[in-house]
Amino acid sequence: MPDTIFTPTYLILLGGPGAGKGTQAQWLMVYLGLVRVASGDLFREHVRSRTELGQSAQRYMDSGELVPDELTIAMVMDRLSRADCRYGAIFDGFPRTVGQAEALDCALAEHGWRIATVIDLQVPFATLMERLSGRWICSVCGGTFHATMNPPREVGRCDFCGNALYQRTDDKPETVANRIQVYMRQTAPLELYYQQRDLLDLIDGTQSVAAVQVAIRGALTQRRLHP
Ligand code: ADP
Ligand code: ADP
Ligand code: ZN
Repeated sequence: MPDTIFTPTYLILLGGPGAGKGTQAQWLMVYLGLVRVASGDLFREHVRSRTELGQSAQRYMDSGELVPDELTIAMVMDRLSRADCRYGAIFDGFPRTVGQAEALDCALAEHGWRIATVIDLQVPFATLMERLSGRWICSVCGGTFHATMNPPREVGRCDFCGNALYQRTDDKPETVANRIQVYMRQTAPLELYYQQRDLLDLIDGTQSVAAVQVAIRGALTQRRLHP
């Protein structure tokens, strides 16, 4: 964790695979002036650069299972120790188990810090399947689109930077179904965990991208987290 003289702001985006965490993180980063810490992106970077961690993580990712807590927590803590996290972070896809949530709470508590809010994007199973099967991601800036629900202006090109869009290999139907099951079993219990700590803000994630954004802004204002 970086040394600072002020209290950093930590937000969590919770929600099943395809709920819209990455899409909403994109404007939230600018709105709050915070970096996004996306455990899935960090793992994909490790796989691409063929690190030892990437090699251990790959088989879990390919089957849609979670990478073991020990590896995940160490990777995220390492990311948080970098200077660009000194004002805090927006967590996307982390924590995904109660063990990860407890480890994060402990690490923050060592400095007297805590999570500010958990934005829970609620989207039913069938919609998650539909969203992931049409997801296209920018290979350069991470911009996220959907073939029919949120199409880029030009097919296969990112609206933000003009680079090529690609589909993730784990967005194929068999893996997607397992990822949703894994979410229900291992990650959904976090709703109760954060509700008990009075940190859970439920958002209807089935609305349009713009309407979800408005709802998140409302939740941030309630918690006095607007910039
Ligand atoms: P999505 O945003 O579609 O839910 P991610 O990019 O967050 O997917 O995650 C892709 C894969 O990376 C997961 O299926 C899992 O194998 C691994 N992964 C990402 N974050 C975590 C985490 N916090 N704990 C364990 N595994 C993770
Ligand atoms: P996550 O990060 O939670 O896995 P993404 O942000 O990558 O989810 O979104 C998954 C897919 O759904 C993408 O194709 C994205 O363009 C699309 N999407 C995201 N939010 C919405 C929304 N509110 N309405 C329709 N499609 C959406
Ligand atoms: Zn782009």
